[in-house]
Formats: sequence, structure tokens, C-alpha cells
Amino acid sequence: MSDHLAGSHDLVIFDLDGVVFLIDEPIPGAVEAVERLRADGTAIVYATNNASRRAADVAALLTGMGVSAAPAEVLTSAGACAALLAERLPGGAKVLVVGAEALRAEVRDAGLTPVDRVEDEPVAVVQGFGPEVGWKVLAEAVLAVRAGAVWYATNTDRTLPSPRGPLPGNGSLVAVLRTALDREPDVVAGKPQPGLFRTAATLSGSVRPLAVGDRLDTDIQGAVTAGFDSLLVLTGVSGPADLLVAGENQRPTYVAADLSGLFRPADGARVPAPGSEAGGWRVVREGSRVSLDGSGDPVDALRLLCGATWTGVPLSGVTPVSGEARELLNAWGVRKDD
Ligand SMILES: [Mg+2]
Repeated sequence: MSDHLAGSHDLVIFDLDGVVFLIDEPIPGAVEAVERLRADGTAIVYATNNASRRAADVAALLTGMGVSAAPAEVLTSAGACAALLAERLPGGAKVLVVGAEALRAEVRDAGLTPVDRVEDEPVAVVQGFGPEVGWKVLAEAVLAVRAGAVWYATNTDRTLPSPRGPLPGNGSLVAVLRTALDREPDVVAGKPQPGLFRTAATLSGSVRPLAVGDRLDTDIQGAVTAGFDSLLVLTGVSGPADLLVAGENQRPTYVAADLSGLFRPADGARVPAPGSEAGGWRVVREGSRVSLDGSGDPVDALRLLCGATWTGVPLSGVTPVSGEARELLNAWGVRKDD
């Protein structure tokens, strides 16, 4: 075990979009980070809420971008959901599948029997994203759940990223059943629920996993709920202003600008930073106000300020002293110069 962040964990679980790649381009440093983890012998899992692709397809997508990935290292919410179903149902049990062919294949591979109609008497309904999902199968699912089938959803992401902007995701399709049934799914596998992460750790035999993500409301909340250490990287959706106001269940253990943070000392990445100084920055707290002075690595300042805002200082109470501090707070959108 090394004292760098990745070295103190036996498994690194990567979110994909915003961490390893952005839409279809690898994020700078991602290829090198994966190679270094392999050289160090640290296990890797790529964990994605997307249930419409099979693990082998995701691995091929990553490899095509130059990020090495084996199918066995990919866990989709479809795979995790099928693992949860297999854990709880007898072999061969009938499951009504609402979603893409990838989900049907995962259910079959888990030793269960995919069916399409309520007349087949399914004991469970599993719902994942599929571009072909239509009213007929949603109606069968409503009937099956009403007849007593347990309702599993791979994930509840309301939207899917696309080059044309956000499109309806599985959460939007789950909302159809939720509206018709006036109830919530019984089990959700994907983030922010802990099932995807827990399944990743179980399949890897990991005892000290680290989850790496770019979203506080999915990746980090999922890690907190699973009881895993987490690293927020600032290459995707959540930014400094989001982190400063994060609720208790969305606070990462560590924060770094990008995946190179995996190879920095763990204590130097911990959030909030202990004490009142880090790098060239200093914070002084007075009641419900805090001032930031000095200069240096912006992430050091961010970690220090979390120590204040996570214990009651509102964003409006954060004030800059140095010119660098002023620039930083402006860039984060934490305050606006008049
Ligand atoms: Mg992401």
C-alpha cells in the first residue's frame, strides 16, 4: 500500500462521462491514470448507469478511445440490476423486461427467464432505458406490478446526455409507471442508490474501494450511501460552487482537479482540508463569515473553504482578501464583482 490516494484502496470504480471521457473524447490524463493503476496492480471497474449497452460494448467504446478496458471490468446498471435479481429470485424465475436487448441479455445471463407479457406471470419487472420502449410494454409492466411483481429499475436518471442536448432517460420512463401506479419502484440499482457500487465491490472482492465521479447527486451520493470513500473530479458536471453547498449525503471524501489526483498524497486531497491553511491559501473564520487570502492551487482553496461552508457559513459570507482569491471566487460564480 502506498500513501497516494489510489494506493490506499484496492479497487477504483470509475464513472464514465465527465470522468474518463466527455461524450466521445477521453479526458486528458484519463489514459495515463488507467495505465498507472494497472501497473500498480489496482483493480478497476467502470460503472455506468446506462443500461442500454452491454459490458463488452462499453469496453469496446473505451478501448476505441485509447482507454484500456476489459468487458469484465465494466458494470452497467443493467448488469448490477440482474445481479440483484439473481440474488433474490430462484433460478429460472420469470422477469418481465422493459428496456433494450442488453438488459434482456443480462437477465438471461443471470439465470433468469425474460418474458414480455403479464400472462406469463412474471415475479418481477425490470425496467431500463431502451429507445424502442413503448406504451404496450409499459402497460404490461403496470399490470404485472399491480398483480404483485416486484418492480426493479436499473436507474432513474431523468435525462441522457447527447450531442443534441439532454434527452429523456430511464427516469422519465420510470415516471410513466410511477404515475400510472402511484408508487415508487421497489429497487433501483443505479446511482445514487448503492447497488451498482456494492455489486462492483462484491464482484471484485474489494474491501477498500474508492468511487470516482463528477456528479455529487449521483456518483458521490451513491458512494456515501454505499459507505465507500469517494473522489470528486472537477472535469464534469459538478463544480466548486456545487461542492461548497453540498448536503451531508453528497460530500466526497476527496476532491481533485482531475484523475491525476489519484496519485497525490491522500491527506492532501481530503476535503475539507484540515486547519486554516493549505498550499498558499489561508482562511479566517469569524462567526458566519469567512475570508480567503493568499494564492496557489485553486483546489487547495476549495478544500479549505468547504471546512467553513460545510459547517454553516453561507456562500454570501465568503469574502476574498487577495486579488487571486477574488478572481477565484468570481470564476467559480460564488460571488460577483459589481
Ligand atoms: Mg458522469
